[in-house]
Amino acid sequence: MIEKTVAELYSALNSGEISSVELTQAYLDRINRYNETLNAFITVSDESALSKAKQADALRAKGDSSPLLGIPLAHKDIFCTEGVKTTCGSKILHNFISPYDATVVTRFNDAGAVMLGKTNMDEFAMGSSNETSYFGPVRNPWDTERVPGGSSGGSAAAVAADLCAMATGTDTGGSIRQPAAFCGVTGFKPSYGRISRWGMIAFASSLDQAGPICKSAEDAALMLNAMAGLDTKDSTSADVDVEDYTAGLDNSLEGLRIGLPRQHFAEGLSADVEQAVRDALRVYEKLGAELVDIDLPNNHLSVSAYYVVAPAEASANLSRFDGVRYGYRCEDPVDLEDMYKRTRSEGFGEEVKRRIMVGTYALSAGFYDAYYRKAQKIRRLIKNDFDAAFKDVDIIIGPTSPHTAFKLGAKTDPVAMYLEDIYTIAVNLAGLPGMSVPVGLADGLPVGMHMVASDFAEAKLLNVAHQFQKNTDWHRQRATAFTEGQ
Ligand code: GLN
Repeated sequence: MIEKTVAELYSALNSGEISSVELTQAYLDRINRYNETLNAFITVSDESALSKAKQADALRAKGDSSPLLGIPLAHKDIFCTEGVKTTCGSKILHNFISPYDATVVTRFNDAGAVMLGKTNMDEFAMGSSNETSYFGPVRNPWDTERVPGGSSGGSAAAVAADLCAMATGTDTGGSIRQPAAFCGVTGFKPSYGRISRWGMIAFASSLDQAGPICKSAEDAALMLNAMAGLDTKDSTSADVDVEDYTAGLDNSLEGLRIGLPRQHFAEGLSADVEQAVRDALRVYEKLGAELVDIDLPNNHLSVSAYYVVAPAEASANLSRFDGVRYGYRCEDPVDLEDMYKRTRSEGFGEEVKRRIMVGTYALSAGFYDAYYRKAQKIRRLIKNDFDAAFKDVDIIIGPTSPHTAFKLGAKTDPVAMYLEDIYTIAVNLAGLPGMSVPVGLADGLPVGMHMVASDFAEAKLLNVAHQFQKNTDWHRQRATAFTEGQ
């Protein structure tokens, strides 16, 4: 049962094959058994999960059949949850209990979903391997010597190992899509503004976006139905109508024009990843799609521009963690300045400090024009490239990552880690919707295919991914080490 998609669990719950309490208990048992190895959860909220599941069963008995009612989910530990610890993967928030729920959390609660707990992540969502977490790295269920990707590594590993039916993630430069690729699950980053950021701890406010991590495009559509929409508490949330994202999943792909960026099928891409993506493209051709080579000429500037914009915004956002208002405070400060300094020196990890320093430098008088303004100009050029491409094609497809999951500890140079997001980062800079779906295995490790659509064309993206999943079963492959007992 636990390996089923949300859509399948919905039928099982409705037919009475299983209750939400039984299902919730089954996931809690698995968390209990495997979390010590995987380290995917920072907090497990068994009691509240079981009582929420009981409520869901009672509502269902009264005739409520909302799509997510009684479905167990996990939230990335970046979303504030009232009464349950929210750490953002950091020592500085290791004991922080939010007095309110993030809008995303409220919406899942209102939909009747059952929160199992909070998932591990790179500290403040900075990283691509989940190794910057104060709570230790997450391990990839496909090979526990390897990273699950990051920063939403806990959510991706939890879904891949069937520790929950679905999970939330956030994506600033690739943090939903890259871990989804490494763990063989479906990850969806909506257009900027599609989902409220209220109560989602800010990293880089002009890039951060929440989204689903789950087992299929259909599940992503179901989750997006609950998550998407205007929120007056977030002034950057978009006033764009929310569609029923499941409605168009079965639309025909006849005549679909797929753009293949030359820059994404170039040097640096490993041969087995390329092969898996090219095989997937053949499936699309059979479904009536046409493949067109395109150019994204400024893509090579995206990582550099991102590593000015994101740290700049992070340096401002993280100034609030000062030992006064939230979480950790150093022991016995001699005065206020000592308190600020030591709290932040002791509370933040190395990567977070590096970003604060880079960001502060880039924004300082005299350097602003040379770095920040220039990066913003590059951002415009990148968006223009996508706009030009979408005049000719409906969707852009390439690999999510140049390779499969790497070994824990293998990347010690920060710049090598930054290059992990070479195919995904431009999408955040342009604010577009992007997604990763599993398309194969290379040496037993999952390969992800990256798909991008134009502004607010979420439904199109989900339709294209769903058609692939209807005709293949890569999204059904399970991490073998964790499949006993099903
Ligand atoms: N790997 C990128 C970074 O470290 C992106 C992270 C993210 O999307 N949150 O900034």
